[in-house]
Amino acid sequence: METTPCPKCNQPMDEGRLSVSGGTIGYVSQKQKGMVRQVTVIEQARACPNCGYVELYLDPKTLKQRLG
Ligand SMILES: [Zn+2]
Repeated sequence: METTPCPKCNQPMDEGRLSVSGGTIGYVSQKQKGMVRQVTVIEQARACPNCGYVELYLDPKTLKQRLG
């Protein structure tokens, strides 16, 4: 993934991922229907050391499959 500056303050961003004790952080679209809504795991994160803004990324192919 290409490095882009912070969209809020235009400073270089730090790359990493979300870390949660005992689980993963995921995303579920409002468009996902049915009893079982599969979570798309957030795979990558970036944080701005200057202003604190955080960006989250998942696998777009996986999300598109879940949207049907
Ligand atoms: Zn920033």
